[in-house]
Amino acid sequence: QAKDIGRNSFRFFSSEQHQQIHSRYQLGNDLLQALTEDQFELYYQPKVCAQTKCPVGAEALLRWKHPSLGFVSPDQFIPLAEDIGLIDKIGNYVLCEAAKQGAQWANEGIEVPLAINVSAKQMLDPNLAKRIINELEYEKLPPHLFSIELTETSFLHCLEETQITIKELRSTGIQVAIDDFGTGYSSLSYIRNMALDVLKIDRSFLINIEQSDIDRTIVSSIIDMSQAMGLKVVAEGIETDAQFRRLQQLNCDQIQGYLFARPMPALEFIDWYKRQQSLT
Ligand code: C2E
Ligand code: MG
Ligand code: MG
Ligand code: MG
Repeated sequence: QAKDIGRNSFRFFSSEQHQQIHSRYQLGNDLLQALTEDQFELYYQPKVCAQTKCPVGAEALLRWKHPSLGFVSPDQFIPLAEDIGLIDKIGNYVLCEAAKQGAQWANEGIEVPLAINVSAKQMLDPNLAKRIINELEYEKLPPHLFSIELTETSFLHCLEETQITIKELRSTGIQVAIDDFGTGYSSLSYIRNMALDVLKIDRSFLINIEQSDIDRTIVSSIIDMSQAMGLKVVAEGIETDAQFRRLQQLNCDQIQGYLFARPMPALEFIDWYKRQQSLT
């Protein structure tokens, strides 16, 4: 009987595994088409000033509406795009769309500082800084209204190239943020070695900030240390008012999270942004 269970569970596991391999392969093919068939869209999530709640900018987050699966999470398709060599094309779409949108809003008289996410694989492109700078020039978007968010894995490969890219970007006024801070490896060494502008504390340190003395101490220390080094600090994934007030008290600079707004399509976002600006 044990053998039967073993065989059954093996069969189940095997078929599910097969399905996973197939769907990942399939999803890769679908991803190729997504670009040409216009299935991508940028959503925008506001960042607000921790002291005044005034909106101070937004992060562009990529959405893929798959024709039969619906929305697929970027946590799923970004790593896939990296694996199958599509990340540069997708990253370019994100860059062009965000620059165009930022310029359009600026022309309409509302300046929204925008951040895009850049994956570690994209940082391997030695022309990345030039492409970003050229795109902003093309759209006539002032560089001080643009920033990129890099995760800690970006700093693992090709440290020297990464440093050059960051330097080039920052020399024009484009800001550079370290994203998901605290979740990667040897975090402290690169905030020591790299000149950066913004540090985003990962949501995982903030979820239990009210319950956990340890987490509160960590977050408080990250904020103090970062500010002492001249970095602006953003808290990610804030969902409750208690979390918000705590971060206010710890003197965090900016807050992003569902408490204020979810990522929204461009039109919905800009309505929200204007309304909030008039309120605060
Ligand atoms: P990230 O850059 O750390 O973005 C923050 C993620 O947290 C977003 O998920 C956002 O929707 C979510 N979030 C914001 N506030 C809250 C909150 O209060 N609670 C919770 N539970 N979540 C919140 P999303 O949009 O699914 O993106 C996931 C990750 O995918 C991003 O993490 C980023 O690493 C990557 N990603 C998204 N768009 C792009 C892109 O255009 N290019 C690249 N290379 N990566 C992207
Ligand atoms: Mg980000
Ligand atoms: Mg993050
Ligand atoms: Mg993340």
